[in-house]
Amino acid sequence: MRCPYCGSLDTQVKDSRPTEDSAAIRRRRICPDCGGRFTTFERVQLRELTVLKRSGRRVPFDRDKLARSIEVALRKRPVDPERVERLVSGLVRRLESMGESEITSEMIGERVMESLKQLDDVAYVRFASVYRNFREAKDFETLLGELGPRLAEEEATDELTARRLREPGIDD
Ligand SMILES: [Zn+2]
Repeated sequence: MRCPYCGSLDTQVKDSRPTEDSAAIRRRRICPDCGGRFTTFERVQLRELTVLKRSGRRVPFDRDKLARSIEVALRKRPVDPERVERLVSGLVRRLESMGESEITSEMIGERVMESLKQLDDVAYVRFASVYRNFREAKDFETLLGELGPRLAEEEATDELTARRLREPGIDD
């Protein structure tokens, strides 16, 4: 495994152990050339997946990229990292089990939204708003409506609404 810091190919495994859910092996590695330490994960891959993007481009499916976008949506949310790891593993397993080696980015996005909706409402809204790339505020309101009144209220209190609440009659 190439050292991510100096590019040396001569790195050594210091320690190997299963992750908590035993779905992966975590290896701690050290580079004798620069002293850099890093971790790699070995996971089951049921199928090689290719992602067909909206632009028509095909790229190899990248688990880390998927995990990063989910982590961004979950930033500062009270969700156990182990649950996030399980969510990502479950998602990947389901995508691999669909029987197709080529999947669309839309398909991945929809599955991520389904999963996040179960896990955390706020993360779901964050992901969905970026993923769906809303053109109109109406789309966003429809989405918030699906989540029930509590969250909709929180999110709807934007600057304009707040100003209107402070200055009644502004539009009269
Ligand atoms: Zn190195």
